[in-house]
Amino acid sequence: AGPVVIAGAGQGGLQAAISLRQAGFDGPVTLIGSEPGLPYQRPPLSKAYLKDGDADALALRPQSFFETKDVTYLPETTVTRIDRDAGRVEVTGPAGDSALPYENLVLATGTRNMRPPIEGLEHACDLRTLADARTLRGRLDAPRRIAVIGGGFIGLEFAAVAVKQGHEVAVIEAAPRLMARAVSPLMSNRFATLHRDWGAELFLGQPAVSVDEAGVTLADGTRVPADFVLLAAGVQPNVELAEDAGLETANGIRVDTRLRTSDPAISALGDCASFPDPRTGRHVRLESVQAATDHARLIAARIAGDDPDGPDYAAVPWFWSDQGDRKLQIAGFAGGPDTTDEAVTENVVARFDEHGLAAVETINAARVHMKVRRMLASADPIELSLLEELAAA
Ligand code: FAD
Repeated sequence: AGPVVIAGAGQGGLQAAISLRQAGFDGPVTLIGSEPGLPYQRPPLSKAYLKDGDADALALRPQSFFETKDVTYLPETTVTRIDRDAGRVEVTGPAGDSALPYENLVLATGTRNMRPPIEGLEHACDLRTLADARTLRGRLDAPRRIAVIGGGFIGLEFAAVAVKQGHEVAVIEAAPRLMARAVSPLMSNRFATLHRDWGAELFLGQPAVSVDEAGVTLADGTRVPADFVLLAAGVQPNVELAEDAGLETANGIRVDTRLRTSDPAISALGDCASFPDPRTGRHVRLESVQAATDHARLIAARIAGDDPDGPDYAAVPWFWSDQGDRKLQIAGFAGGPDTTDEAVTENVVARFDEHGLAAVETINAARVHMKVRRMLASADPIELSLLEELAAA
């Protein structure tokens, strides 16, 4: 089998290497990543790592994996160009510049933090990489006033940890509600109440316009004093490599139902990929461990099986976020314009669209979450009454 090159050694890139070998692929596999060290998981960076600082616990596989499975891993190495005509990628790394041939190329380049038009962002910290999390953790060593720009999952997870540690925390969100892109208004309100109860101050519906050494200024002139500022205002997909190579992009690298880009020798996965949602057919881009790993598994099976007519991507999306002592879990994905919500209980919200049940959000209800995931994977329609029974059981 011809060589597989994987650009990006995060959650999905590493999973592609793992799954290729699990599927019996015996050709050369090269995993290329810009960051130093072993591939690691990001979710704990805004959760456990902030508390325990245990970086070793983040590694997805030990160094021995690469020897045992005969996977060439090139850390601190960046893919700079795809030469589709020659079937090779150009890379730059500690050993200088070189080119690597591929028969199949997997783009797993993830995202980077969005830089909204806010003055003075050089005063703000990011939370995307282990290096960011190290810096941030260092800032939590003494009681401080902290402003978080962005009331999404990462900003709120961080806020919950910081408040618990005794810091004064303000969360600034431009939208009128928390986690507005991802959860129902019911869940947004529920978490707004929780965060206020835990002691955070929330500024909703007010974009930050500038950051300086003493804090943040909002659009209406409100000053939020802070010793340091975390920028957690969302991400943008790393699509430039694909774009420069003439591949189709639109809010991510566009792929088909088998996760192939407009060039069938090149696949894309995870945070950087825009793929057809199996339930609705609409192209979506999901930022989740689930999407990255399930995409990787399908791509690996397709390449290892050398089967152009294998199954389409069909995995049910799921997600979690730990905030304080609450675990928010989402089974399914509700991204459509006409979503309606039903509160099944205080901790279970069902979201419907024109195709039926789209997603169920739960708080500290892992059993309900798991059951809904199984139900969504089966083709049977799911009625609200069934969810009520499930939540009451
Ligand atoms: P990534 O894991 O981001 O990996 C992409 C890698 O590609 C990066 O290391 C990047 O440096 C590298 N790269 C980019 N361009 C190049 C290039 N040209 N050459 C070489 N390398 C390149 N998800 C959940 O489901 N639940 C959670 O609770 C959760 N919490 C999170 C908390 C934090 C703080 C963060 C940052 C993310 C969290 N996520 C969570 C999201 C999850 O981590 C991502 O969805 C997942 O990592 C996506 O995997 P990926 O492989 O697509 O991208």
